[in-house]
Amino acid sequence: MPSRGRFRLTPEQAENSVYNALKDGYRLIDTAHIYGNEEAVGKAIKRSGVPREEIFVTTKLWTEDFSNAEEEINNMLKRLDLEYIDLLLLHHPADHDKEAYKAMEKAVKEGKVKSIGLSNYYEKEFAEMMKIATIPPAVVQNETHPYNQQKTEKVYFDKYGTVLESWYPLGGRNRYGRGGKDTLFNDSTIVSIAKKYNKTPAQIILRWHLQDGNIAIPGSSNPAHIKENIEIFDFNLSNEDMKKIEALDKKQRFSTF
Ligand code: NAD
Repeated sequence: MPSRGRFRLTPEQAENSVYNALKDGYRLIDTAHIYGNEEAVGKAIKRSGVPREEIFVTTKLWTEDFSNAEEEINNMLKRLDLEYIDLLLLHHPADHDKEAYKAMEKAVKEGKVKSIGLSNYYEKEFAEMMKIATIPPAVVQNETHPYNQQKTEKVYFDKYGTVLESWYPLGGRNRYGRGGKDTLFNDSTIVSIAKKYNKTPAQIILRWHLQDGNIAIPGSSNPAHIKENIEIFDFNLSNEDMKKIEALDKKQRFSTF
């Protein structure tokens, strides 16, 4: 199921785009303390009228919260105005992350959090965390798209039953000339596959994530794009087309972290 990820919007824009997404059938919402919009997410959930148990809310502890994670989890629940968080991630490796992971495990036992995971952890940091983890991460959220497919990482994470969640699933924004969305949308292989299925490049990329076993969390505040990005359940990419996209991998990250 695609999801909604929000960043750098006003509270009203964030609330409205989550509300629109829920109305269009999205059920996974990806937020984080550092995005500053957990309150807006909570308001959109209430406004949507969608039953809480149908919605999957992910949020992330920022690095500055790591030494104070137990209290911060309570603050998150207050900001989101929810009784539990479906998935809580450590946003990025940093000092005190093991303490924070332990606090997340405690929160699972207390019923405040249903599942836990990591973000921006690659094999080395992941292996370190596994030395102390008693609950393996349900997901690891890393930059993943056709140019950075995380194939070897996926095999490694799979040993722990950890699923890859793709941030920048479409290649990311083009702010500061760093994002890769336009690069991927103009890739000749993706453009020709899109024509063949009468879909947009965004839909082809999101369908590829789904068939490749990734959880994709595309971001947009544009209602037309929000709608477009969920219309990916009425077609299948052939094995041949999946292989063509697989061949685009060049381990290229568009972000600088
Ligand atoms: P993305 O790859 O999902 O989207 C890139 C840009 O494409 C968006 O900014 C949007 O303007 C545009 N877009 C979306 N749908 C489109 C469509 N159908 N047609 C044309 N343009 C379209 O990248 P993103 O939005 O930056 O990130 C997605 C989510 O990933 C974020 O909202 C966030 O929740 C998460 N994220 C997590 C981390 C992390 O460190 N864990 C880092 C970055 C982003």
